[in-house]
Amino acid sequence: MIFDIYTIFPGIFTSFLAESLLNKAQAKGLLSFNLINPRDFSDDLHKTVDDRPYGGGPGMVMKPEPLTMALESSLSLFEALPWVVHLSPSGSLLTQKKVRELASRPRIALVCGRYEGIDQRFVDLFANEEISIGDYVINGGEVAAMVIIEAVARLLPGFLGKEESLIEESHSHGLLEHPHYTRPPSFRWREVPKILFSGHHAQVAAYRLAEALEKTRSVRPELLDRPGLEDEVAQALSRPGAPLSGQKRKTMKTAEFQGTSFPVDDEGFLLDPELWSPVWVEMIRQSEDIDEITEEHVEFMMLLREYNQEHGHPPRVRDMTMVTGFKLKFIYELFPSGPGKGACKMAGLSKPDGCA
Ligand code: SAM
Repeated sequence: MIFDIYTIFPGIFTSFLAESLLNKAQAKGLLSFNLINPRDFSDDLHKTVDDRPYGGGPGMVMKPEPLTMALESSLSLFEALPWVVHLSPSGSLLTQKKVRELASRPRIALVCGRYEGIDQRFVDLFANEEISIGDYVINGGEVAAMVIIEAVARLLPGFLGKEESLIEESHSHGLLEHPHYTRPPSFRWREVPKILFSGHHAQVAAYRLAEALEKTRSVRPELLDRPGLEDEVAQALSRPGAPLSGQKRKTMKTAEFQGTSFPVDDEGFLLDPELWSPVWVEMIRQSEDIDEITEEHVEFMMLLREYNQEHGHPPRVRDMTMVTGFKLKFIYELFPSGPGKGACKMAGLSKPDGCA
């Protein structure tokens, strides 16, 4: 992939392109960069690239001729024509979707404005699109161009060591990413969540998904409104080789309670028993209209969970009395919705066989 960068301050890119992964990618031949300075194409003695605005007002405007000469001189019959992007705070907002689109193009020209911006006629004649990196104004297009380069380059096959890290990243399936932890296991009285030491890939994936949903809900709730998100999340988890592949695919939803998000199936059963918590129990208690959680409730749930731990699924409804030693009538007194929709749901387990 080729990036042509049009800037009157090419020096800004020197160390940016010479360091780290971008440097390696150039060495591997994945990426190449052309730095083109419109000032080199100005035909007056002082190499002028800007002039006062017609109609008056503060600041200067970048003249159309040096930019045009610079662009035309870098086109050749033998190379792909670049997709010309004008970096501008009045462009459309850069999103991960737009980044994916850009990453599919063989050659991109990034035109960096300075001063008050670029003469509109250059933009009208040559720009395929205008992109803004956010609703704020910076001094020039160079930093915006760097943002695009970094975001696009990460998506090129072979750029990152581990391609799977892309799948997990923020915005890749419409959610913000889950938090990360590394050694030490305890730092300033804060512990790494235990589930991350379990080695159980499916449970870790479900935990991370719940964290991602929770983070998105609290920081960027509008991202959860997007239609099709649920399916995309479920699909991301069932991609080949993914932790949940091979398991029966369930519809993914979230249940929100007291500021916590739980991934649940379409009948409201918790998708991962490891995410069971007092908040979950309280949520089900309220929805089941149970006055209070007694020792018997807890004992029954622990018996169900022990069975589940051993067998990988909760006991069948018809085996509940035998497995727990509780009489069916008493189970219904504790959990009016019954051993499945009441007890297993509150115990954070899946719906048992034999439950209507
Ligand atoms: N007068 C312009 C306006 O109010 O829209 C701002 C010009 S700005 C000081 C100079 C240059 O910085 C712009 O031409 C553009 O290339 C770049 N720039 C500033 N903010 C940007 C943003 N949010 N996204 C992309 N480029 C930006």
